[in-house]
Parts: sequence; structure tokens; C-alpha cells
Amino acid sequence: MTEEAFDVMVVGSCMTDLVSQAPRLPKAGETIHGHKFFIGFGGKGANQCIQAARLGAKATMVCKVGKDFFGDNYIQNFKDNAVHTGFAGQTSDAATGAASIIVNDAGENAIVIVAGANMLLGREELQDARPALSRAKVLVCQLEISPQSSLQALRMARENNVKTIFNPAPAIADLDPDFYRFSDVFCCNETEAELLTGAAVADAEDAHRAGQELMRRGCGSVIITLGPQGCVVLKAQELSSQHIPASPATVVDTTGAGDSFIGALAFYIAYYPTMPLEEMARRANQVAAVSVQAAGTQTSYPYKKDLPAELF
Ligand code: ATP
Repeated sequence: MTEEAFDVMVVGSCMTDLVSQAPRLPKAGETIHGHKFFIGFGGKGANQCIQAARLGAKATMVCKVGKDFFGDNYIQNFKDNAVHTGFAGQTSDAATGAASIIVNDAGENAIVIVAGANMLLGREELQDARPALSRAKVLVCQLEISPQSSLQALRMARENNVKTIFNPAPAIADLDPDFYRFSDVFCCNETEAELLTGAAVADAEDAHRAGQELMRRGCGSVIITLGPQGCVVLKAQELSSQHIPASPATVVDTTGAGDSFIGALAFYIAYYPTMPLEEMARRANQVAAVSVQAAGTQTSYPYKKDLPAELF
């Protein structure tokens, strides 16, 4: 058992991305030659945890991977990023979560995700992590593990006055109402906001309306990210929302920008708890804007040393 106090605890997913680039997507039953293959570290939970750690947060990951090559590799990846791995479990009952991705020359893709060991993260692991969770500054959860496990973690955080960030991704339409009530910051992108509220979200004005609906459901505050349009922030007791424009960026690859934003937000909440949420969002926009300027997911996430001093 660890007595350490963490800035950021993430309870969430790890996925190994197996990416093949090919001239076109194969048809059923067909074998074609591709021209490039690479393996990447992904999974929303792990991405967010690693971005927070790269900014300097003392971070721990509560997750489950397989007792296999990809699982061993993933745990080493956390260690390489200074993420505590005492709650990163391995199981022989399922393989490490994997996303098999084929990308064609037009940039279109076909993806099969097998969540595998991620779905076996449950009550037992959360009980082991409970003492550390009760001392953490921020808990971050998403929906790439069993929703019941995410909800249980959020409930435990609330019982211990630990600040929560909930990222309802990938979105499910019939979200348990407790997810809203246990979220100090409910942070989603425009697609997720649309699915949850049933109203189209294309710009800051739409996001303001969707955010108001999410606030009515009991969230402490809401942030809706809007890609190149930045994000919209809504706080309790304020009727208006704030639109925080994105930082200018020369885009190379936006994959994982949302996770970079959330990891940065977790860092700011842990380090500067009295900073206004809109200032945290402005800084998280800047971190995420750096991530879109390089290829890949975690490979594009900046370290503290790469960022301007005024962000810290
Ligand atoms: P993903 O699913 O790829 O992780 P997402 O859809 O969850 O992303 P977005 O809303 O696309 O998340 O982007 C998150 C944040 O990243 C934005 O709020 C913004 O700060 C930054 N960002 C994304 N795209 C751009 C861009 N083209 N230029 C500058 N910043 C960007």
C-alpha cells in the first residue's frame, strides 16, 4: 500500500494502437499490402494521465492491462513518463486493450477496438486504490472502462472531497444521472455534447446552450471543447458562458488533442486550485494546440520544458 499523495489520479483505459497505412482499405476477405506500420500508446485514460505527468503532476494510473507483451510495454511506458504504476494491474483473463487501425492514402480509416482487460477493471482495484484516491487532489474518469467502475470512482472521490473531472467519452446516450452530479468539471467535445443533449453543437453559441442543459443536470461546471474554435466554459452561479478561442496552430495531426486538453486541465486544477476555470481552460488550449502540431497521440504531447514559462 502506498502512503503517497498524488496530484492526479486517473481511473481509465490503456489501448495499444496498431496502425497500418495502406493505399486503400481492404474489402472483406481481401489481403493487401500496406506501406507503413507502427505501434502507438493510446487509450483516453492513459493519454490524459501522461499529459498531466509531462506537465509536472505527480500522477498515478488505475488501470488493467493483459499479462502479455503489450501490457508489459504499457507499464514500462508509464514508468518512462514518471507515472506511478502501483495501481496498474495485469490479468491473464483478457488481452491488453487494442485498436487495430487501417488508414488509407486519403486519410480515411477503419478501426476495430477490443477493450479487453480494460473491462475487467472493477470494484477490487478501486478498493485497493481507495486510500490513495482519498488523498489525491484530482480524479479523472472517462467511459472506456465499465461505466459502473468510472461511476464508483467518481462517487469515492466525492465522498472524500476530491475534485473530479469527468470526460464522457466515448459518449453513451443514456448516461446515469449520477455522472453529472459527481462531476466538478464535466468536459466533453461537441459530438459528445450533441449526443447527450440531442441538440446540434457547431459553434460557441450552440455550446453555450448545450452547456446550460448539462449544468441543469447537476454538473459543477462544464467545458465543451470545439477543436479549432477552442472551448466554452460554464460555471455555477453564472448565467453566461465564456468562449475561450483556440491558440493558433499549424495542424499536423489532431488525434488525441482532447485528451491533451483534459490532462492539462487536471494538472492546473491540482496545482493552482484557486485559478479561475476559464484561465485554466485558456492554458489547456495552449497545451493542446502544441499537441496538434506533431504526429501521433502521446508522441505529440508536450513536456513542461517545451512550453512557455507563463503557463506555469
Ligand atoms: P480527439 O478526439 O482528437 O482527442 P476531441 O474532439 O476530443 O479530440 P477537440 O475539441 O477536437 O477534442 O480539441 C480539444 C482541444 O484541442 C481544443 O479545445 C483546442 O484547445 C485544441 N485544438 C484542437 N484542434 C485545434 C486546432 N486545429 N488548432 C488549435 N487548437 C486545437
